[in-house]
Amino acid sequence: MSKNSDDKRGKMIIIVAPSGTGKSTLIKKLLQDFPMLKWSVSHTTRKQRSGEVDGKDYFFTNENFFKEEIEKNYFIEWALVHGNYYGTSKLFVDEGLKQGKFLLFDVDVQGADRLLKDYRSDATAIFITPPSLEDLSIRLRKRGTDSTEVIQKRLSNAQNELKRKNDYDRLVLNEDVEKAYEELKQIFKEIITT
Ligand code: ADP
Ligand code: 5GP
Repeated sequence: MSKNSDDKRGKMIIIVAPSGTGKSTLIKKLLQDFPMLKWSVSHTTRKQRSGEVDGKDYFFTNENFFKEEIEKNYFIEWALVHGNYYGTSKLFVDEGLKQGKFLLFDVDVQGADRLLKDYRSDATAIFITPPSLEDLSIRLRKRGTDSTEVIQKRLSNAQNELKRKNDYDRLVLNEDVEKAYEELKQIFKEIITT
């Protein structure tokens, strides 16, 4: 089943978390277990990491092209995050909702705020928090995908993002990944069945 129902509007599930919290790890599991979810592939000017697939993880693009897309109103929201541009396709959201789909987003706090402003009644926003900044630092370093400078920038931004953790609909702690996943699964089941 990939649709909510023929005559029902779709739903948006927005995941927000500081970089390194584990949201990609959790989202990967969710997409495997809930095949009805449609993943919103964002556009970004960030460099592709090893293992990432263009068109699946992100649409990787350059700054000129991204700015042209902004001008053409291609994005429903876009933001400068850790020095790179990221944006969500407007067509994906509007068509998906019209077709009754369950749409899944991974955006920063700016993106979540923007989506909630325009789509409050369609959306549930879930903030995932790490146990501490120290854990976040260990996870980012262990992941090994970013330079020391990039990790510093992400950690420094995380301090501000964590101040927003109680501003969304649900809060999930990712200390033990299996426990966090069980909690998320329960939330998803609630959203999908109501
Ligand atoms: P994000 O998508 O939020 O930036 P990732 O999913 O890439 O984060 O996770 C960052 C790193 O932390 C990865 O190496 C991942 O395997 C690891 N990780 C995720 N969850 C946990 C956890 N609960 N405990 C320890 N390490 C974790
Ligand atoms: P990363 O570079 O680690 O994949 O993502 C960095 C940050 O950008 C994360 O906080 C992620 O949620 C956010 N992000 C990814 N896609 C989008 C998007 O389309 N819009 C916004 N506003 N943020 C995004």
